[in-house]
Amino acid sequence: MSTDCIFCKIAKGEISAKKVYEDDHFFAFHDIAPQAPVHVLVIPKEHIATLDDLTPQNAARIGEMTVLISRLARDLGLVEGGYRVVTNCGEGAGQSVFHIHYHLLGGRPMNWPPG
Ligand code: AMP
Repeated sequence: MSTDCIFCKIAKGEISAKKVYEDDHFFAFHDIAPQAPVHVLVIPKEHIATLDDLTPQNAARIGEMTVLISRLARDLGLVEGGYRVVTNCGEGAGQSVFHIHYHLLGGRPMNWPPG
C-alpha cells in the first residue's frame, strides 16, 4: 500500500469508483474517462508501480490478473467483437497513475498502431 496512491485508495474503498469486480487480490472498475464503450481498469491490490517493477515474487500475480481480464472480457460481452488490453509503462508511454493497471477496452473497432 502506498499512502498517496489513488488506485490503492480505490482498492480499499477510500475513493469511490464504479466497481466491476473484486476479490482478495484484484479490483476492477470503470475508467473515469472512457476511451471506448467499455473501458475497465484492472489492478492488483498490492501496490506495484509499473510493469518495470515486476519481480519473480510478484510476477505470478500479474499472470493471474491476465486470466481474470479474459474472464471479465467474456462476462462483459467483448469476446465476439474483440477487445484490447493495454498497459502503459512510464510517463513517455502515457502512464499517469503509478500503480500498475491494465486497460480493458472494447465495444468498438480498434485501430493499429495505437497513438
Ligand atoms: P494511464 O494513463 O495508463 O496511467 O491510465 C490511468 C487511467 O486512470 C486513465 O485512463 C484515467 O482516466 C483513469 N483514472 C484516473 N483517476 C481515476 C479515477 N478516480 N477513477 C477511475 N479512473 C481513473
